[in-house]
Amino acid sequence: MSKLPAADREPEEKISIRGVSKTYESTNALDDVSFSVSEGEFCCVVGPSGCGKTTLLRAIAGLDDVDRGSILVDGDPVTDPSLDRGMVFQEYALFPWRTVRGNIRFGLDRPACECADCEARVRELVDLVGLEGFEDAYPKELSGGMKQRVGIARALAVDPEILLMDEPFGSVDARTRDRLHAELLGIWAQTEQTVVFVTHDIDEAVTLADRVVVMDADPGTVQSTIPIDLERPRQRTAHEFVEYVAEIRDELGSPVDSSHE
Ligand code: ADP
Repeated sequence: MSKLPAADREPEEKISIRGVSKTYESTNALDDVSFSVSEGEFCCVVGPSGCGKTTLLRAIAGLDDVDRGSILVDGDPVTDPSLDRGMVFQEYALFPWRTVRGNIRFGLDRPACECADCEARVRELVDLVGLEGFEDAYPKELSGGMKQRVGIARALAVDPEILLMDEPFGSVDARTRDRLHAELLGIWAQTEQTVVFVTHDIDEAVTLADRVVVMDADPGTVQSTIPIDLERPRQRTAHEFVEYVAEIRDELGSPVDSSHE
């Protein structure tokens, strides 16, 4: 597949998902899914369990193929994983035998390197995610929120242009999640990365996103995309916030998540 001519792309379009379908045996995980994500945009993909969110994210990461359609980054088809696309997984995916420093270092393109530059980069990342003092701790000594900070730092290590996050805060308690939301938005404001953040939690999507892509299951399709025109930080009790949540809930047609309720 060749690069898409610039004239066929929106000027600031970073990721284009075009007519993507994927079937696992008898499951139609994604059916003709199309949307695009702008450069620097924070895009949340929300939908019920099984609507193909993880399948889609892994395809954007280049970890899995699709059956039909294409995924383009800067107009180039995604064929393999790339250092330009950092991924944060749901269940931390840390190496238990490596310390915080060792796990973060693994995200660098030269994980074994202990040169001053690499050491400085690891220190910078430890600071960025607020884990000073825990550099030599092992994952089993950390809380869920701390583990996910390590996962984020590791994904940020090579300063990827795109950050792909698969329900990264699904396993942490509500208070820690609030703190991590604020930290993630702070990091995003600093790094100006393009973020695709998958969640089944509508509140989380409205808290974070510039735009929410609402998906439906069986087959996995895009139901609608909803721009969130609210200043940050956002208050969950604000009238407009509640209206966005209701709008997305209506689109989904059924309750998706009640973790905050
Ligand atoms: P979500 O992330 O929205 O929960 P997934 O992308 O994980 O959805 O899955 C979409 C559908 O595809 C589900 O029905 C799931 O059971 C199915 N599926 C996902 N991965 C596989 C696989 N490796 N083999 C078979 N079915 C799969």
